[in-house]
Amino acid sequence: MLAFFVSEKPRIITELSHSSMISMQGNTQKINLLDFDRQDMESFFVEMGEKPFRASQLLKWVHQFGVTDFDEMTNVSKALRIKLTEVAEIRLPEIVEQQLSSDGTCKWVLKLDCGNHVETVYIPEDGRGTLCISSQVGCPLDCSFCATAQQGFNRNLTTAEILGQLRIAHQTLGEMKNVNKPITNVVLMGMGEPLLNFKNVVKASNLMMDDFAYNLSKYRVTLSTAGIVPSLDKLSELTDVSLAVSLHAPNDELRNQLVPINTKYPLSDLLAACKRFFAKDNRRKITFEYVMLAGVNDQPEHARQLAKILRGIPAKINLIPFNPFNGAGYRCSSKEAIDQFRSILVRSGLVTVTRKTRGDDIDAACGQLVGKVADRTKKNRRQTVNFIQEQ
Ligand code: SAH
Repeated sequence: MLAFFVSEKPRIITELSHSSMISMQGNTQKINLLDFDRQDMESFFVEMGEKPFRASQLLKWVHQFGVTDFDEMTNVSKALRIKLTEVAEIRLPEIVEQQLSSDGTCKWVLKLDCGNHVETVYIPEDGRGTLCISSQVGCPLDCSFCATAQQGFNRNLTTAEILGQLRIAHQTLGEMKNVNKPITNVVLMGMGEPLLNFKNVVKASNLMMDDFAYNLSKYRVTLSTAGIVPSLDKLSELTDVSLAVSLHAPNDELRNQLVPINTKYPLSDLLAACKRFFAKDNRRKITFEYVMLAGVNDQPEHARQLAKILRGIPAKINLIPFNPFNGAGYRCSSKEAIDQFRSILVRSGLVTVTRKTRGDDIDAACGQLVGKVADRTKKNRRQTVNFIQEQ
């Protein structure tokens, strides 16, 4: 029955067939509605000869009521439901593993296509529940202290796969008796560099904040980036998400070693982009993440340099105790070193907190996510470099 759709509206099928929205089910190509933001959904219905308000109805059914069967959409006419069933679907990644930490943290390994997997982590805390989601299968950035980097990079996630993580966690947590807190915050801090998957990440983030989808506040959806400078400017134009920047070093020499993308976008460029980011709203602050590596970036001198380079930027600092993994080659700074580092920053007037390590007994802590990624990056570095340069 796809034929009717193609002959009636050839344009949409041409557009969509070039995107990641198509799945093969038998011989039928179906559009995954989880890939659609509000604008896509409106265009989709208009192309079908329907009124744009259908978009809000569908968004609600798909995201708020968690429906995957069009027949359950009772305020949609029978004829439209039949049409939708023929051309579209609501398809989620598959849970292949679920692990619960002794501290209540929960990790899911999700299967995508062709053996690709990603990991998603839920961290319950007093009064809130944070979901840490992935944006890529693996990561091309090669940060020297991150387990995901060691796995290499396969591909970008689709909007549906990014949002699907939220949807799956939402559903599963509702079903789990011992973890019944809702998801109040989402952080794009799992596997991957979100700004290298710009379009899909922006769509997914906007849906997380859309009244008709997840309706999360802009203060509760945070994108974490190693600093893809040109994309930062675009990001502030297209979405309202909160921003975290993985700094990890207070000078270029050290940052080039820890976060190699710094050789392309050095600190001066990155910090200038950070100054511009919330220029229109001076109440908002950027979180700067700083992993504490013993004897590498944790000396008092580093703290003083850090305070100096952040002057004039609306900043708060998150110190992250390094989470070890096999073959890491780093150790976490001592508690004393972290406390001293923190007090230097606080004395300089910077709001600084030390992040609690959560879920390390199930390898769910920051930087420990590896999924099951066939390492294509390391085998073919040129491909990775090209990938970054094309963004
Ligand atoms: N690519 C993005 C998001 C993924 S990493 C970014 O760089 O921000 C999320 C956070 O975990 C980053 O701040 C990252 O630097 C940090 N991280 C990575 N490996 C870590 C480790 N082993 N221990 C502690 N934090 C780590």
